[in-house]
Amino acid sequence: MRRVKFLLQIFLALMLLAVPTQAAESTWQPEIRIGILSSAQSVELEISASGVIVDGADAKKILGKIAAGEKISFDAGKIEAEAIEIRGEKVALKDLQVTINGKKYFGGVRLAKTGNALTVVNLVPIEEYLRGVVPNEMSIAFHAEALKAQAVAARTFALKNRGRHKAEGYDLCATNHCQLYNGVEEVAATDKAISETRGEVIVLSNEKLVDANFHTDSGGMTENIFDVWKTKASHLVPVAELETKTQPWTKEFPAQSFAERIGGGLGELKFISLSKLEIGKAASDRTSSGRAKTVTIVGSEKTVQVSGIDLRTKFSLPSTLFDVEFKEDKVIFTGYGRGHGVGMSQYGAQAYAKSGWDYKKILAHYYTGTGLKKLY
Ligand SMILES: [Zn+2]
Repeated sequence: MRRVKFLLQIFLALMLLAVPTQAAESTWQPEIRIGILSSAQSVELEISASGVIVDGADAKKILGKIAAGEKISFDAGKIEAEAIEIRGEKVALKDLQVTINGKKYFGGVRLAKTGNALTVVNLVPIEEYLRGVVPNEMSIAFHAEALKAQAVAARTFALKNRGRHKAEGYDLCATNHCQLYNGVEEVAATDKAISETRGEVIVLSNEKLVDANFHTDSGGMTENIFDVWKTKASHLVPVAELETKTQPWTKEFPAQSFAERIGGGLGELKFISLSKLEIGKAASDRTSSGRAKTVTIVGSEKTVQVSGIDLRTKFSLPSTLFDVEFKEDKVIFTGYGRGHGVGMSQYGAQAYAKSGWDYKKILAHYYTGTGLKKLY
């Protein structure tokens, strides 16, 4: 009998040990603040579970309660505290949804007074934030490993740039200045990519988070960040693609309107000079990936040099990986790819994923010398 009791005690002790091990799968995750509205006179809110209204400077100071499904309008002039926050009374932020002026967001909300108006900020756990970002940044029809690479890049961007809008009272904005965030989205493919890479970020060998820039399609080779933004980063240097000359494009402009848009007293267009494009080959007028660095434009009155980046902006060209010619009174650009070309190419990631690479290999390819770290 004593032996049975003893065995039972051991069994119970093992059970107790087993429980915390299971719970050890971390549920903690960083909370970030996303700016939704600024200069709002009033805002209408509704939350999915019963919530508490707390002082924005002291979360322990409860100012009131709000019932699940209750619509409340907050006027800038009627809020006494400098800021208030609405969080779940019994549920964690990740299990709460807040409707702000009719649009649903994961998490809770912070209303901060700026003069006579309100800044409306979504308080959201980062993994929930990513659910509203990744489907807007990459086609949800892409391969699972490409979506995972995108999820890790977006998570790294968010954590690296936390506090980018500190002066305005939040971490990141919801537009593509930071990352396009559209509130609650429930997309199975991207939700899976996010949960399967939970907490993973891209780091350098010293464990520092990297700038995880990405773009639509490099067209054949990615670009050195220095050639786009004049800043140096050892992990953002040109790398080759599985496929080259992807997404070919052409844009034509009548010579006269081209010359007018170049401006600066060019006169009548006479000649345009840019060496022939060879992907991955530098020239005096091309960067090491082959993108147009400087284009010489000769007019009847003047000769000007315009950077490939300025031409891309001025004429809305998809990329700077182009050739240009002047013939029959037309200026014709022919090029490949889409976007600035720095960091991960999304179409390139898709091509590598389809060829059998996993997201870790894809990220290590596009972000030279980096590895992954699971933060939580
Ligand atoms: Zn922003």
